[in-house]
Amino acid sequence: MMTTHIPNDEVLLDYAAGTLAEAPSLMVASHLALCPESRSRVHAMEAVGGTMLEEVTPSELAPGSLDALLGRLDEPEPAMSQPVKTTVTSPVLPQPLRDYLGCDLDGIQWKRRGMGVSTAELLTPAEGGQSFLLKVDAGRAMPQHTHEGEEWVMVLKGAFDDETGHYARGDIAVSDSTVDHQPVAAMGEDCVCLVYTEGPVKLTGRFGRFMNPFVKI
Ligand code: ZN
Repeated sequence: MMTTHIPNDEVLLDYAAGTLAEAPSLMVASHLALCPESRSRVHAMEAVGGTMLEEVTPSELAPGSLDALLGRLDEPEPAMSQPVKTTVTSPVLPQPLRDYLGCDLDGIQWKRRGMGVSTAELLTPAEGGQSFLLKVDAGRAMPQHTHEGEEWVMVLKGAFDDETGHYARGDIAVSDSTVDHQPVAAMGEDCVCLVYTEGPVKLTGRFGRFMNPFVKI
C-alpha cells in the first residue's frame, strides 16, 4: 500500500533539489500551491540548503529521517517564517498548472470518454508514462483497476473516495500494483484531477475488458 495524501519526504527532497522529473514536478508544484504543510516542509529543506542536500541523497534517507535531519538545525531559517506566496483563490487550477497550461479550468478542451469520464492530455513525460487532466462527473465511478508502476492523482476540484480513503482539493493519492481500486467522485460537483502514471493501468473489474478506452488516453 503506497497511498498518501501528501508527497512523501523523498519526493519533496527530490523536488527541492530539482531532480524530480517534469510531470511529477508539475504535480508537486501544484500541490504546494494548495498545501501549507508540504510548503513548510519544502521551505525547510531549501533552508537546509545545498550542502546537506549534497551530503545526504534522498536514497540514503530512511522514512521519517527528514525530521532528524531538520532537527540538526540550530535555529529556524528565516525562510520558514516568511509569508508564503499568496495563492489567488478565485481560479480553480493552482498557479503552476495555470502557468503551464496558459489557462484556467474553463479553457481546458475536454475529450469525453463515456461513463461520465473526460480527459485532457497534458504532457508526454520524457521518462515515459502519461500526464493528463481527468474529470469524473459528480457521483460517477471510475472502472476498477490496478497499476503497472505508480499512479499519482491530485484532486483539483471536487473530491473522490476509493478503497484507500477520501481525497479532496490538494490531496495526492499514490497507488501502485499493490492497490486495486475504484475511485468514485463525490456527489455535488464534478471531480477534476491531475494524473501522472508511470505505466498503464490494468482494468480488473467485471466489465474491464470492454472499457479499454480508459486504459490509454
Ligand atoms: Zn488507480
